[in-house]
Amino acid sequence: MAEEFPFEISPMFEGERIRKDGMHVELSGPKSKGYELVRATPMDEVEDGRFTLIGPDLSEMEEGSRHPFAMIYKIAGELVEEDLESIVERRNHDFQNYIQGMMHLNQRYDVWVRISKDAVSKGLTSFEPIAKAVMMLFKNELPFIEKVEAVYVTDLAEIEKEMDAVKAVYQSRDDRTRDLHEEDVDTFYGCSLCQSFAPSNVCVITPDRISLCGAINWFDGRAAAKVDPEGPQFAIPKGDVIDVESGEFTGVNEIAKSLSSGEYDRIKLHSFFEYPHTSCGCFEVVGFYIPEVDGIGWIDRDYAGTAPNGLPFSTMAGQTGGGKQVAGFLGVGINYFRSPKFIQADGGWDRVVWMPKNLKDRVLSDIPAEIADKVATEEDAADLDSLRNFLTDKAHPIVERWEAEEEPEEEEEVKEEAAAAAPTMMQAAMPMQGMPMMMPSSSGTGGVKIILKNAKVSIDKVIIQKKE
Ligand code: ZN
Repeated sequence: MAEEFPFEISPMFEGERIRKDGMHVELSGPKSKGYELVRATPMDEVEDGRFTLIGPDLSEMEEGSRHPFAMIYKIAGELVEEDLESIVERRNHDFQNYIQGMMHLNQRYDVWVRISKDAVSKGLTSFEPIAKAVMMLFKNELPFIEKVEAVYVTDLAEIEKEMDAVKAVYQSRDDRTRDLHEEDVDTFYGCSLCQSFAPSNVCVITPDRISLCGAINWFDGRAAAKVDPEGPQFAIPKGDVIDVESGEFTGVNEIAKSLSSGEYDRIKLHSFFEYPHTSCGCFEVVGFYIPEVDGIGWIDRDYAGTAPNGLPFSTMAGQTGGGKQVAGFLGVGINYFRSPKFIQADGGWDRVVWMPKNLKDRVLSDIPAEIADKVATEEDAADLDSLRNFLTDKAHPIVERWEAEEEPEEEEEVKEEAAAAAPTMMQAAMPMQGMPMMMPSSSGTGGVKIILKNAKVSIDKVIIQKKE
């Protein structure tokens, strides 16, 4: 099966970034349209290895241009079932990034692809070898796929025609977990896909918490672990409940410890401030603490403006990612907003003060009615002053917290607690320091922690001396 491709394929190209001046074409992305979709298909309806292109090919695209782009893969096999679609779909992201000169970002209908000038000058003139390479990798890496066929679309009308139906597929996947909760199951699932760039990341997927990338829910994790228990998605026995409210379980803590090589040994699934879930880098949304109003804002990847704290998504994402527990920031998948356990340890929606209008509209039906119009968007508050005014005008529940804090007789107590409490650490974390904050109890005296993974270190001599 040694096919010749006009590019190299290796996981080492995964981190490759293609900037605007280095790109030959941009496909889909925030300024165009597209999607990626995997469908489980009956065996006799898939022609193995076949590639179909609807619309212009790469050779017909001008340098520097932007085009709509959809990728559909039909998979078949005895073990293939609908529950596996998301898992396979997520791997399109990895595999396309394995291709030198190709960059794939995001998922579902947010996919954003670039192909570099370099790749084109080395002979990449068609989408066909890309599709063939991805199909080859699908079959090599996911042996339950017996047949796979790819359809790529660069024709806008064709993409628009299918868009509603495609969104309905994503929606029905998301809806499946709605009536299932952590208390109903005894197994969660983990995903280690993001460990390639965030080695201490521990992605825990429960019925109440989708993966941070938004692509893998509990059913998907279960299906993947069933066909390939040694693969990147695996079962996590829930173990005993340590705390229901914040979502702390012995099974999760054990896996946190082993998966992060000991860097973290506690994760509270529904906590923003204390032992929060780690954040990888491909999260759909970043939550950020706003100390000035003691509330939490959320900003998504598609929002190009700045939040009331003056920062755009990219800056805060840089602060959040890398597989750390970062006090004051939290990466999540959009579907987590639909969870009844959404940051319930910190007040849930009553703690949310700001989010971009597009994101708010997307999850509006899941925001409790009594708070929905009290959450500001960029149309209501562009900076901290206007945010504070908006929250006051709307009598947002957060305002009661300010009043409680202002009562003088409690001042002493508040001060003392603040020394230990995480939210106060956020204030220190807010200025744009490059260093992630350590959680208070995990490293009491601060200091430096170094993690080496798969590293070989040889040293002639080490001298450790007490500071004079
Ligand atoms: Zn991730």
